[in-house]
Amino acid sequence: MISRSGIGVFPGVVVAKAAVFRHTPLDVEHRLSDDPEMEKMAFEEARSSVLDDLHAIKPSTKEDADILSVYESMLSDPDYLSLIRDNITRGRYTASWAVEAATEKYTAALAALGDAYFAERISDIKDAENRLLSAIAGISSSITLAEPSIIVADYLLPSELMQMDRSCVLGLLLDSGSQTSHIAILAHSDEIPAILGLGSFSGETEDGATVAMDARDGIAIIDPDEKTIRSFRARKGIALRNEKELKKEATLPAVTLDGHRIHLMCNVEGLEGIDGAIAAGAEGIGLFRTEFLVLHGFHGDDEVYGKAASAMGGYGPVTFRTYDLGGDKMADGMAREEENPVLGWRAVRFCMERKDLFRSQLVSILKASALSPSVRLMFPMISGSEELLEVLDYLEEVKADCRKEGIAFDENMKIGTMIETPSAAITADILADHVDFMSIGTNDLVQYTIAVDRGNERIAHLYRPLHPAVIRLLKYVVDAAKAKGVTVSVCGEMAGQAEYAPLLVGLGFDELSMTAHSVLEVRRRIRSLEWESCADFADRILSLPDATSIEKALKEFNNGKT
Ligand code: PEP
Ligand code: MG
Repeated sequence: MISRSGIGVFPGVVVAKAAVFRHTPLDVEHRLSDDPEMEKMAFEEARSSVLDDLHAIKPSTKEDADILSVYESMLSDPDYLSLIRDNITRGRYTASWAVEAATEKYTAALAALGDAYFAERISDIKDAENRLLSAIAGISSSITLAEPSIIVADYLLPSELMQMDRSCVLGLLLDSGSQTSHIAILAHSDEIPAILGLGSFSGETEDGATVAMDARDGIAIIDPDEKTIRSFRARKGIALRNEKELKKEATLPAVTLDGHRIHLMCNVEGLEGIDGAIAAGAEGIGLFRTEFLVLHGFHGDDEVYGKAASAMGGYGPVTFRTYDLGGDKMADGMAREEENPVLGWRAVRFCMERKDLFRSQLVSILKASALSPSVRLMFPMISGSEELLEVLDYLEEVKADCRKEGIAFDENMKIGTMIETPSAAITADILADHVDFMSIGTNDLVQYTIAVDRGNERIAHLYRPLHPAVIRLLKYVVDAAKAKGVTVSVCGEMAGQAEYAPLLVGLGFDELSMTAHSVLEVRRRIRSLEWESCADFADRILSLPDATSIEKALKEFNNGKT
């Protein structure tokens, strides 16, 4: 029995079989083999199992089909194959070393051609190599779930989770990732118990082993004994009872003890989230992350936006954020090699270059606005007023085309900007002149303010939402927005964590957006707070010098000590 702890991102207790999956194979064995025949057999078996896996995949886009054909041609290339077989029989390399050495030679030859097309294929070839190396090591490199299981993996891309049969995913245990990584956000909104940042857990777990997890406490156990299994079952019972109690409060308003009303909205990634938002008593969709539709390979935006607006419109605004593609949210075939993707070709920067995609999305949102006055449009990752004005001008251009083409839309549709960069926060007073509302994406704002990658578990301890720089920016934005009469909300993960509610309410936020599950927890917390004491508390926090003292003060406040 091995116990490990990590970062719990969506609560839940599960005991089930592990389906182990690794993108990066375990270490390549750089040694001479005593048994080249056995190594050759290991290679041939791995090659045919990878080919079988590839044949079983049904590509949904042309880009997917292109990548599959690169994999297949590589695995059937006579020069590449004879290089590997030679490395094994004459060089006496282990199978994995033979593959690694042959791939290196092959990709070096391609790189030397200096051709952009071949250079781009190198990452596909490395991917095919990974599949071969994983198969040699006996580890699955494609996620096909034969039965409901806990996925144990080194990491998981949002697009990979989206391609799985979700009814078979009982939980996620990942070596990497942190609270605000996009895979965590997806696990939260899909209500999949998940623990991230578990170190080398996927290397320690045998495929098919029994695993117990309690994601609220961030504990995962490999091969639990009978006593541990019984205690996890008891924990599960308690968690389910709590959940039931929370759901009973879904119809109550989020109002503080002294009568201050806070509007709780939902973040969703697709139509699937709408029912959950209504059931949790959300007063609208504060953030519809539309890029997940693209990652899902879905191209019927008109239909999705229209349905979301009609279904949710009676409850409050439905805020479509334009595609925030880039970083870890790139669909196959769109990716561009970048040194720093989160500082790179992302969100509106990507959209303003890919106007084919952007224009059609804007038209779809405009069409949805004709169906319901609740539709709002919001731009992500704005870094300042020039960028904002550029996208607003482009929106005006698209609106003018719609008028010419007789496409109906709501001329008064509300337009907003996200505040996710320090530059946007510091110029919030200027941005406020051009929009109807602002929404603070604290996940990115924290990452960019204190220069800590939100998805990197190695530095997760440095990701401190309560850093005074972040708190001061929040305060500055809320004051600037209110002075200009512009609505302001928080839609990052901070909004959905009940322990931050006193601070956000005290700073002056009247609108928070989060996953459906968090709406239930945050509502309960708000109903236990006094607005006056939250405001005093926030004032006091603003004079504290560092994250540690603010964390301590918040803990004391939450424990009723101040
Ligand atoms: C954020 O950055 O806080 C946000 C809500 O956007 P995302 O998490 O999708 O980057
Ligand atoms: Mg963001």
